[in-house]
Amino acid sequence: MRILIIGGSDAGISAGLRVREFDPESEVTVLIKDAYPNFSICGLPFYIGGEVEDWRSLAHRSMDQLQESGIRWMLNQTVTCINNKQKQVVAVNKANSGTAFPYDKLIIATGAASARPPIPGCDLPGVFFMRFMGDGLAVRAYLEKFRPGRATIIGSGYIGMEMAESLCRRGISVMIIEMAASVMPSVDKKFGDLLEDMLKARGIRVFTGIKISLIEKTGGHLTVYSGEETIAESEFILVAAGAKPSVELAADANIPLGKTGAIRVNEKMETHAPDIYAAGDCAQTLHRLTGEYTYMPLGTTAHKQGRIAGENAAAGNATFKGIVGTQSLKVFDLVAARTGLRDIEAKAHGFDPITIDMEAPDHKAYYPGATSMHIGLTGDRTTGRLLGAQIIGQHGAEISKRIDIIAAALYSGLTVADLVDYDLSYTPPLSSPWDPVQTAAAKWLNHCNF
Ligand SMILES: Cc1cc2nc3c(=O)[nH]c(=O)nc-3n(C[C@H](O)[C@H](O)[C@H](O)COP(=O)(O)OP(=O)(O)OC[C@H]3O[C@@H](n4cnc5c(N)ncnc54)[C@H](O)[C@@H]3O)c2cc1C
Repeated sequence: MRILIIGGSDAGISAGLRVREFDPESEVTVLIKDAYPNFSICGLPFYIGGEVEDWRSLAHRSMDQLQESGIRWMLNQTVTCINNKQKQVVAVNKANSGTAFPYDKLIIATGAASARPPIPGCDLPGVFFMRFMGDGLAVRAYLEKFRPGRATIIGSGYIGMEMAESLCRRGISVMIIEMAASVMPSVDKKFGDLLEDMLKARGIRVFTGIKISLIEKTGGHLTVYSGEETIAESEFILVAAGAKPSVELAADANIPLGKTGAIRVNEKMETHAPDIYAAGDCAQTLHRLTGEYTYMPLGTTAHKQGRIAGENAAAGNATFKGIVGTQSLKVFDLVAARTGLRDIEAKAHGFDPITIDMEAPDHKAYYPGATSMHIGLTGDRTTGRLLGAQIIGQHGAEISKRIDIIAAALYSGLTVADLVDYDLSYTPPLSSPWDPVQTAAAKWLNHCNF
């Protein structure tokens, strides 16, 4: 069986490796438009900030390890069209010479690209996006060559936030401009405000509720405007306005897209075209709480979906069980994490949500080093079902693992009361007899008279 994979990042590599595991006789070819197979683009902000000195260490696996898998790796091959009748794709190399690659099964793992807001000036020198290895290398080279004193970040999702810390680490004066009412718009405003306070305490200027309409080069610097108003001047701009699925190849081949704009897939990661699968940031994702397909481009999902697509392309019968929307972010010494649905999202999906907020120490206060964490816990008032949580606290306070406890409960469709009954570990330096997530659950039950 000839299995062809377009894309060699999290989804494409997971798919290829799974195919070879499942059917060692299969012939697997991976076509990749750049020269960076299997790199952790999630690590790019840390390469920019200098915590990771050498970009090569961002590779999940070395080229030698990849070669051992028996997969054929075709680097610098940009696929330009999929012909699903003839069952072949055409790819062009750097010299613009085209080659046809036939397949029995095709896996599309073309990922996403940075969203490009319609702001004139986004193409000016000194304005960057952060998505591919090439972006990260270009940003670091620019910072080392021109040593900008000031940076403007447009957008404060997790990439904008991580990059704010990275640029600060390089001694650059950073300004963040966010269109929404608070930073990190994927968490509630009260959590965003805690992040904003911390950023300001670190000397970062933060402006929210501002929509940038123009970037101009004026003299030796770049100026950003909102309408007529000058918002910031700097020598470096990062536009971090989200990601959009790379679906042009699929759309041109009449492979249906879903409502989200990403490739329509089912739980087997099959598209609606015969013998073609899709996985990762180019594909839609089933949300277990809403039962609907959504778009949430994350590495953790890309790995899982890729594995399922690979197994099924190799004649397996695996199903992708869906996500619950779990995400975490570390910025300076704070960690913010969320899972499930926020109150506003739960309401929009027909639930009857109640959210309680509380503060609790991460471990017994008498043991040195205890720090306070803020928890927001959401459940359904009618059924008692657990719907989601947001937590913010200090790095080292196990915030992401606490959100993972709740994510596991959400995955299993448990109630808030079940969370109170969980058998969680306790020792004074690490937690309390009732872990903070259980205290929050108990508070929710009292509040709702459950
Ligand atoms: C800065 C940053 C930080 C992140 N941090 C996190 C994090 O902390 N946690 C998390 O879960 N996720 C994080 N993510 C998201 C995560 O990296 C992505 O969800 C993940 O990489 C998606 O994998 P993918 O294989 O679907 O797509 P991509 O990584 O986008 O890879 C797509 C692949 O397709 C190839 N390709 C595209 N078009 C073609 C074509 N026409 N022909 C040939 N090849 C093609 C590309 O070269 C690439 O190899 C981060 C992303 C960024 C940019």
